[in-house]
Amino acid sequence: MTRRAQPDRMKTLLSAMRRTFTSRDITAGCFECSGSDPKWTGPQAQGTAARHHDATGHETWADVHMSVRYGLAKHERGAS
Ligand SMILES: [Zn+2]
Repeated sequence: MTRRAQPDRMKTLLSAMRRTFTSRDITAGCFECSGSDPKWTGPQAQGTAARHHDATGHETWADVHMSVRYGLAKHERGAS
């Protein structure tokens, strides 16, 4: 019987040690009030667009851009 637990545990350990940075940039608007120009920005923008649609029946939109970074920049890691 082969033991597969060891590589899985190593993977879990490595992913726990990995520095991960995630950021979201959200812009949203209402096609009827502001066309394709953003009307709302920030973390609440998507919910605001949904609530504006609920309240007015207008067609609204939200664009979500997510950035993910793994690890440190070379200058943050120091020598090597
Ligand atoms: Zn509107």
